[in-house]
Amino acid sequence: MHNGEISYWWRASGGFPPRRPSLPGPLEADVAIVGGGYTGLWTAYYLAGRRPELRIVVLEAAFAGYGASGRNGGWVTAEMSGSRAIYAKAPGGVAGVRALEAALRETVDEVGRVCAAESIECDFVKGGRLSVATTPSQLARLRDGLAAIRERGDGDDVYEFLSSGELAARVNVAGALAGLFAPASARIQPAALAAGLAAAAERRGVQIYEATPVSAIGTAPGSAAGGAIARTKFGDVRARSVLRCTEGYTAALPGLRRALLPMNSHMIVTEPLSPSAWKEIGWEGCETLGDEAHAYMYAQRTADGRIALGGRGVPYRYGSALDHLGETDPTTVAALTRVLRRMFPAAASAEIAHAWCGVLGVPRDWCATVTYHPASGLGWAGGYTGQGVAAANLAGRTLTDLVLGEASPLTALPWVGHRSRAWEPEPARWTGVHGLYALYRLADRLESPADSTAGVRLGEALGRVGDAISGIRH
Ligand SMILES: Cc1cc2nc3c(=O)[nH]c(=O)nc-3n(C[C@H](O)[C@H](O)[C@H](O)COP(=O)(O)OP(=O)(O)OC[C@H]3O[C@@H](n4cnc5c(N)ncnc54)[C@H](O)[C@@H]3O)c2cc1C
Repeated sequence: MHNGEISYWWRASGGFPPRRPSLPGPLEADVAIVGGGYTGLWTAYYLAGRRPELRIVVLEAAFAGYGASGRNGGWVTAEMSGSRAIYAKAPGGVAGVRALEAALRETVDEVGRVCAAESIECDFVKGGRLSVATTPSQLARLRDGLAAIRERGDGDDVYEFLSSGELAARVNVAGALAGLFAPASARIQPAALAAGLAAAAERRGVQIYEATPVSAIGTAPGSAAGGAIARTKFGDVRARSVLRCTEGYTAALPGLRRALLPMNSHMIVTEPLSPSAWKEIGWEGCETLGDEAHAYMYAQRTADGRIALGGRGVPYRYGSALDHLGETDPTTVAALTRVLRRMFPAAASAEIAHAWCGVLGVPRDWCATVTYHPASGLGWAGGYTGQGVAAANLAGRTLTDLVLGEASPLTALPWVGHRSRAWEPEPARWTGVHGLYALYRLADRLESPADSTAGVRLGEALGRVGDAISGIRH
């Protein structure tokens, strides 16, 4: 089994792309984007499309797609990160939250549209998203969630309840009691999207500098280019706008240690399954698939006939430390493999081909932001809490409008300018996150059908406590 090597997705893409040059020396630009993941690349792509005359540079510490954008589960999902109640406190109120939800659904199509227009071959299939319930407690949560969805006016075209039979006609998940189907979701090969997007941005004139870590971002009064500066060991980049697009890596920048928590997510991928296994499993629609567990799993059927499946594992490293090239501990690999074999017995004999992990950015209130200050020229976007593939596209289009100073429906969305408070210092941060996931895992164990009724009730109560702490599902 391969472990780490950044991700299976890069191995499946034929290895790492040829490295682009580092920053050659001090530079002046109109817009400097720090971070070459989806957020930075989409922003560069749209900005260059709208204003070809601008000098736009991307400064990337490793290579474009090195971070979560080249490692994720490949769900282009319209799911919104964070709490509806918190976003509803923005001036747009509940209508603003509805606008954000609608914009995220449209974004799934926008990603597909650009992939087609730019010939980005990333296995994009808009097959929808399935959420399955495999215990009575999960089923109760699924039904409660559906009731809330109906209450806010969304019908079958947004979320459709599937009986166990209807679910099995799509995907055969062992022990599944029911499912929820959301059409606004697509499956992609993440690294292929990152690589294709970087190339598309370059075709529009964007300059990407790799192996160029930015050590600090700040304002630069008196600069001819305008207000902001990104410092690197090769020299400073001065620009009218400097945009921080570093999501899970943000804590390493000066002054930002407690801004976004680098949450780990881990993945495994099987060897290609046999035709008979696929016949048993189905999954011909390539829906993205997750469950209703507290410590939930997410999966996709890959274009090359494998199952890629992810989950939380070790949730967080002390002091916001990062992984080494995506290497994953054996305990997490074993836990994910158990989930795979439990849900898909037909894949029981399939070897695990590769395991890896990465970090995503979690703000203290779990709500994402797109922020830009015209006076300083500083902006940032991120904190998508594991729902960043579609959201990064929407954030990129929104940052484009904000940088260009053009008010639009996107700049009125409730995540624009959203501020989250700082995370606690260590050791409280580590204790809190590990405590939360220990609680979630215990809740899942107690909710399993083999447990007693009292145990199930306790599991459900513990899960609710966890949700209240994390803000998930509210
Ligand atoms: C294992 C895993 C599975 C996931 N699954 C899904 C999923 O299925 N669907 C979904 O919607 N979301 C998923 N996510 C989350 C999603 O991938 C991210 O939210 C999204 O990719 C964030 O994109 P980004 O560009 O903001 O950050 P990243 O892709 O992390 O890019 C940040 C970039 O900034 C660079 N950088 C960092 N610091 C500096 C610096 N100082 N100077 C220069 N460059 C710097 C990094 O090298 C990196 O390339 C998953 C995440 C992980 C880790």
